[in-house]
Amino acid sequence: MFRIGIGTDTHRLVEGRPLILGGVPVASDRGAEGHSDADALSHAITDAILGALCEGDLGVHFPDSDPQWKDADSLALLARVIWLAHERGLSVVNMDATISLESPKLKAYIPLMREKIADVLGVKLNCVSVKAKTGEGVDAVGQGLAVTAQVVVLLGK
Ligand SMILES: [Zn+2]
Repeated sequence: MFRIGIGTDTHRLVEGRPLILGGVPVASDRGAEGHSDADALSHAITDAILGALCEGDLGVHFPDSDPQWKDADSLALLARVIWLAHERGLSVVNMDATISLESPKLKAYIPLMREKIADVLGVKLNCVSVKAKTGEGVDAVGQGLAVTAQVVVLLGK
């Protein structure tokens, strides 16, 4: 039995905030605004897994009105959702992600992102794909106003 899920996430980029993607701090003059650590990649993965489980979304499980999730480590939230999948007898087969960010280039950070995510998902490195692209100077990403992530994940018994 297989279950597929999709997740997307966007955060506004502002000065004075860290930029964390897939649990990895990225050197940038702007960071992601949000209640938790605002890790768009980890949030999109979490939403994709919740989607595959037909369990609502991140906001249902970790509401931003709840102070316990303020500055929360999003990889720790992802670990909770993986636990939920394992409870159902499901585990991750593979996942594929695309991050959209105008700058900086993410190439140097992607190997560590994949390692951290694979560790939390409990899968081998070759089951975690992370790609990065720019917004080509258009839309909110292209103008450096936002970071977005899109993720597809496959779960299997
Ligand atoms: Zn988010």
